[in-house]
Amino acid sequence: MKKKLSCKIFGHHFSRIPKKDLLIEEYECSHCKQKFTTDGYGRMVKLNKYWEDNNYMFENKLKNRTVA
Ligand SMILES: [Zn+2]
Repeated sequence: MKKKLSCKIFGHHFSRIPKKDLLIEEYECSHCKQKFTTDGYGRMVKLNKYWEDNNYMFENKLKNRTVA
């Protein structure tokens, strides 16, 4: 709980989650373990079910498009 409080005071400490697709950016806060991603405007948003699905779809769409 103290760790979560530090996020509120100092902000999250993001570390990037390695993804197969470089266009998909997912981050995890090393303090509170919450996950985040970036929306279409490059803004940091909390990674919820909606964005998880979105990224997943994007990843697969891209896979079909580039056959290399
Ligand atoms: Zn945090």
